[in-house]
Amino acid sequence: MNKFAIIALDGLGLQELDRLAEFSTFLAGIRRNYVFAQTESNILSNTATGWATLLTALDWPDHTCSGFAKPVRSLLNLQVVDERQLPQKSLRLLGQTASRETMLINIPLVLPGDRIWLSDGTVPVQTRFSPELLSKKHPEINSYQPCGWLNCNKPPVELLREAISTEILRLQLAADLTQSQRPALSVVRAAIFDVAGHLIGPQFYSRKFQVELSSIGHALDALAHALKCADMIVLMISSYSFENCLQVVNLNHLLAGGGFCRMSPHSRTARMIALEGLGNRHARWTIVPSKSSAYSPTHGTVYLNRKSRYDDGTVCESQSSSLAETILNYLTTVCEQRYGLDFSGKTYPQSDLPDVAFRLRGADYTCSDNADPFDRPAGVHCPRGFLAFPPGLRNLDKEMGLCTAGQKLCQAVEG
Ligand SMILES: [Zn+2]
Repeated sequence: MNKFAIIALDGLGLQELDRLAEFSTFLAGIRRNYVFAQTESNILSNTATGWATLLTALDWPDHTCSGFAKPVRSLLNLQVVDERQLPQKSLRLLGQTASRETMLINIPLVLPGDRIWLSDGTVPVQTRFSPELLSKKHPEINSYQPCGWLNCNKPPVELLREAISTEILRLQLAADLTQSQRPALSVVRAAIFDVAGHLIGPQFYSRKFQVELSSIGHALDALAHALKCADMIVLMISSYSFENCLQVVNLNHLLAGGGFCRMSPHSRTARMIALEGLGNRHARWTIVPSKSSAYSPTHGTVYLNRKSRYDDGTVCESQSSSLAETILNYLTTVCEQRYGLDFSGKTYPQSDLPDVAFRLRGADYTCSDNADPFDRPAGVHCPRGFLAFPPGLRNLDKEMGLCTAGQKLCQAVEG
């Protein structure tokens, strides 16, 4: 049976891949020899939603994952989403290999199980590594911080430098583990292009960052060498890319302005709430639930404060569908009139989904005014990504939705 390595470079578009290939013989070879398809993500275009699609080959909203977290019991209590909240037994991408033969490095949503696993880097969880005994062979893991650069008030270039060292360590670990554990399936996700996209924006691929690009290129080459020695067939995916951030919009201030929620003076960012939520503690207040009918806790979502869903809910089921439409119309109008931004959205009646999912083209959303760099980003996600297969493996159309890309990956791995 063939052994596959899926290398994920989330945050890169084809243009950025070409630039990075100037610093990596591995990527230059892939660009020259592989078959490429451009992919288009869903309306939310966030990392967790995209990975839910790649892992399950189900599209949004069928896999129900709208982001890295969702409110549970109260709009203020965010719970980090993982594979247990996806539809039962839907991790089709990982289905064919025994757990212990599967290596997952920095993949959103998946839990360790018996897998060779290095923490999900999309939320600021503590260092974790599985199985534990691997940390004896790889002591460098003891100092690994999946995203130690988050939530600190350093200049973007300094944060970038820290994120690059993390990435280089992560890619080295992936190379070492490939050699020592000989997995049958590896999925390795570099997070650096997402970090750089938010902190620096598309400018990261300019001459100014040659040294940085070159160090990442070399680390990818070392991983590619290990994969080649282990006879693994490399497949490549990027589930989104970046574009310049034109505007930062505080969605909850807009909702408050429309009378849909009451804000408290000390608002905190969604990521900070998630951090606190991880310890299963109640997050600090951002809105007053008893005075609020809707809230946007994560990028691209609005949840109604439904009585049927939350202990401190205020909205009756009979009101919910018309209220969701009213909010969608209000946000569309105000984003167009006030910011000149294209706001596209959709409402969902199902109770396990946000009531509104939206995309604010070229804009990022914030729920606080503090200096978290993720709330003052240089770039924002753009739904365009790519899929690359070795020639002759499967037919790829030049353009496809991310769900089709997920299906193609599953089919390839299933043989
Ligand atoms: Zn991102």
